[in-house]
Amino acid sequence: MLNWKGCLLALVMLPASVMAQNAHIVRFDLNEGMKSFLRANQFDVTGVNYKTNEIEALLTDEEFANLSSQKSAVIKFSFPQNLSAAPDEDYKNPDEITDFVNDIHAKYPDITSIKVIGKSLEGREILAIKISDNASEDEVEPTVLVNAMHHAREVMTPEVTTDMVDYLTSQYGTNAEVTKWVDSTEIWVVPMFNVDGNNKMWLENSMWRKNTRGGYGVDINRNYPTGWNSCNGSSAYQSAQDYRGTSPASEPETQAMMNLVASIKPVFNISYHSYSEIVIYPFGCRPKKTPTAEAVEQIGAEIGKKIDYKPGTAWELLYNADGGDIDWMYSEHQVIPYVIEVNSSMQGFHPSYAQWRNKTVLRNRPGWMHLLNRLNGPSLNGVVDSKDYQTIKIFKTGTSELLQTYKINPDGSFFVILKTGVYDFSFEGLKVKKLSNVDISQKVSVSF
Ligand SMILES: [Zn+2]
Repeated sequence: MLNWKGCLLALVMLPASVMAQNAHIVRFDLNEGMKSFLRANQFDVTGVNYKTNEIEALLTDEEFANLSSQKSAVIKFSFPQNLSAAPDEDYKNPDEITDFVNDIHAKYPDITSIKVIGKSLEGREILAIKISDNASEDEVEPTVLVNAMHHAREVMTPEVTTDMVDYLTSQYGTNAEVTKWVDSTEIWVVPMFNVDGNNKMWLENSMWRKNTRGGYGVDINRNYPTGWNSCNGSSAYQSAQDYRGTSPASEPETQAMMNLVASIKPVFNISYHSYSEIVIYPFGCRPKKTPTAEAVEQIGAEIGKKIDYKPGTAWELLYNADGGDIDWMYSEHQVIPYVIEVNSSMQGFHPSYAQWRNKTVLRNRPGWMHLLNRLNGPSLNGVVDSKDYQTIKIFKTGTSELLQTYKINPDGSFFVILKTGVYDFSFEGLKVKKLSNVDISQKVSVSF
């Protein structure tokens, strides 16, 4: 009897992905009612297509059968998926990413350094590569962070980050623009973040999204502390694709990214995802606006224009999302952060490598390049004595309208990106220093 009970329990505990090896990508009309319907049913929304006004979700065989019998009118197309069929082998696995990072550093030791930012749940090293002149030193230069693959099945995303690393390292010293970026910026790249999930994606389930916690997995990008579990933008169910975990930052991967961001204090971040051809900025919950929304929105729109992707917040473009990385980066460290969803629903998660890899990375280059160039646009930057000043308050000139409180970096440096305009600044700590009527129509440096 005991044995029988134990056996039944084991059967019930098996994750759905092991039991059902088939699923369907289903395409629906994109509207608010449909988004609510998909959310209410806890379906795995995989992407949107604003050219055709359609939204897609990944349904298990069972979910698909139920939907077909009850709601046949809402189904536009179904694309059966074999969950055990891995994508094109040319896409990289975690070992190939490690080899890539080591090879680049061996080839360009002066302008690169490698950092293990933490270990995954299964003990894999999560690697970052820093590209800068004097890469082994921490210089007072603005920092830009780029990462890929919070979600394991989004195999095109490490192609974008590794292409960026290849481009910057191979053209340093010959391409004047690249040389200037590398000399004046600290560029950090986490080429593949969710290494355990990606390993599982190759070995077990080609549609795997989360990390590998307990066999069911936590969605790392619903696990950050800012707004965690705040707007029905994640799930409490372990089996859900957007399961948020038991508590904020419960996952070692989340902690690794948070520690990296806290230590390097990026001015900008891009987190690459797939798919939808959209550029997402904070916040993931409605109707919260960013305090410095104008600059965040403007730069997001500029990126969107450069790469022909649609810009907006997650709730405008897709669905409510809480506990995402960009909301945390923006709230806690005033990073101006974007999620870029590469590829369209025509390509999905696993497009042909030969047909789409080069097209996708080339199309995305002007996006990250725009951020490197924007460091020379309107901003206030400089260095102060960190014993005297810890924060900068930013006001619209002549008003008490506080736009943002910016934390000064531990070394006293700061780099505040703003939209062109006239602002008042109050540097505060043990001492207070006010700067009034500062015209930010270009890059302005102040140190005192
Ligand atoms: Zn994603």
